[in-house]
Amino acid sequence: MGPRKAGFFIISQLDTIIKNLELKQTDAVRGAQTKWNELYEQYYERHFVPGNKEMRRLSKFCILNTIMNKEELNHIRHTLSHLLASAIRELYPHAKPTLGPAIDTGFYYDFDFDGGDKPAPKDLQKIEQKMRELLKKWESMQREVVTDTQALAFFKNNPYKIEMITDIAKGGSPITFYHSGASGDTLTTENALFTDLCEGGHVETPNKELREVAFKLDRIAGAYWRGDENNTMLTRIYGLAFENKDALVTYETNLEEAKKRDHRKLGKELDLFTFSELVGPGLPLWTPRGSILRHELDTYIWELRKKHGYTRVAIPHITKKDLYVTSGHWEKFADELFKVATREGKEYALKPMNCPHHTQIFARKPHSYREMPQRYAETTMVYRDEQSGELGGLTRVLSITQDDSHVFCRSNQVKEEFNKIWDIVDTLYSTFNFKLRVRLSFHDPMTMEKYLGDTKVWGNSEKALKEIAIERKADYFEGIGEAAMYGPKLDFMATDSIGREHQVATIQLDMNLPERFDLSCINEQGESERIVMIHAAIMGSIERFTAVLIEHLAGNFPLWLAPIQLRVLPIAEAHQKYAKELFDKLAQSQIRAEFRDTGESFGKRVRASKVDKVPYFICIGDKEIETGILRLEAHDGTVIEKNIDDTLAFLTEKIKERSL
Ligand SMILES: [Zn+2]
Ligand SMILES: [Zn+2]
Repeated sequence: MGPRKAGFFIISQLDTIIKNLELKQTDAVRGAQTKWNELYEQYYERHFVPGNKEMRRLSKFCILNTIMNKEELNHIRHTLSHLLASAIRELYPHAKPTLGPAIDTGFYYDFDFDGGDKPAPKDLQKIEQKMRELLKKWESMQREVVTDTQALAFFKNNPYKIEMITDIAKGGSPITFYHSGASGDTLTTENALFTDLCEGGHVETPNKELREVAFKLDRIAGAYWRGDENNTMLTRIYGLAFENKDALVTYETNLEEAKKRDHRKLGKELDLFTFSELVGPGLPLWTPRGSILRHELDTYIWELRKKHGYTRVAIPHITKKDLYVTSGHWEKFADELFKVATREGKEYALKPMNCPHHTQIFARKPHSYREMPQRYAETTMVYRDEQSGELGGLTRVLSITQDDSHVFCRSNQVKEEFNKIWDIVDTLYSTFNFKLRVRLSFHDPMTMEKYLGDTKVWGNSEKALKEIAIERKADYFEGIGEAAMYGPKLDFMATDSIGREHQVATIQLDMNLPERFDLSCINEQGESERIVMIHAAIMGSIERFTAVLIEHLAGNFPLWLAPIQLRVLPIAEAHQKYAKELFDKLAQSQIRAEFRDTGESFGKRVRASKVDKVPYFICIGDKEIETGILRLEAHDGTVIEKNIDDTLAFLTEKIKERSL
């Protein structure tokens, strides 16, 4: 079969899989999917470029598949919570089980241990052991619909279950028991090994399906019955559960690593930013070191932009209400807008975005097609009123610095402009070794009423975006229904060094604001032609990007970006003069060096340089003064020995290249 034919064959298989996914026919899906995966690897990936219709089917498949895989894992996790309750009943017969759902990392179950022993963390291993022992006999899990009288009788000593049963009965839903025990038999409360009140969502053959699963009991915490602090405090036992051992180990290692890298912790240790009670939560204050970081990042983006013909603009941080009424933000951003009243009683607002202001720069005069596109860039803060409960670190703030840009262009220039911005995105993220994939955020033709503009314009612009993705051989996928109300987007996702994915840069096409502000250019025929706008932020926001970057690099910034690039440490009093002269030379070469004199012990100063994650330090002792050869020691322990001039050349070059 030729590759293209194979491609269509695979797509036809896909239809069957989708149907089975929708019907949740798990076994049928697994069979078809395995076959499909084989074919996919053989042909599809290499030879088949899908058209629009195929792409839609593929993206539907991906969505359903993710949901199903997640659902399966949820069933596994929830089944484990039953198993935990069963083990607890064996070991603590007085315990009253309440509720035990699946969660993102495993499961938990809440118990009331009143009237007897309560497990301590040291007992978790014993309980886990019991779970493994019981699991062997859990050949099946079976559902039974019972009457409320039966249910109340069975749980007569458990006020929590009684409350739930009464609630379910009131709501009119069937009351269902789930029995665990031998297979082949019809399980009832009499012959089952364990019975729980439950709505369902389990695996059917626990002893088989949980064989490969990796689980462990994690910790004990307190939790109020039904989350209400006026209720009894219960004991919650958490378990971790993943599809296999590797996944569990990866989760635990990454969790450990993520804790070490937490940008809130490192930001403090590296003295990059701070918060003040007086200024308020969500309003980060950037220290001298943190400001260097911001400035270096922004300078880099600006250099990249300049190459592509961007010019800087600057706008005030407030505006009259009228601007946002016209743009539609007064209504759309109503809750997030910081409003300002003037002494004359006029309403102003702090800007939540820059686009409306920028349109007014474009609109200042008529533009001929020869002057198009106009590319405005500005790194500036915007302000959004978030609920204070949601604030924490740099990932959610009220003052957001955007490296924003707006391109005002003709429809036929969209592709080229997107490509230019994509180049900048690629350059920035590859500088830090992030792996990028991109979501083509398209409209959903089934709900056209959610979008502005006509179908043809949408079709054309989405086609252009997809062509770019294919031409660039990008790792992309389609997100149907992910478009903004005013146009399709490219949303970039960066995978960091510990495997987490973050949404970062975005390029958005906007057919709405030009309409609202009546923006146009004069075309070749001398007629007025409606233009489009492209919004693009490369870092997204400096705050979020910095947080991601700190954690990605574990605070070890490359030389060009590090707030302190190098420390000069004289070993003893006698070496101070020479070291100071060296420091002066470095400073003259625009290297951000620091001189630490002998006021503190030598060991202490070396340790401090490591804690501060300074990329390099140079110690000056008798040997260095005698030979003129400097030892440049990197934070990872590597040593480079060069004379002063070569050292300077080495550092300057490395900074210029922005190498990692
Ligand atoms: Zn259940
Ligand atoms: Zn914008």
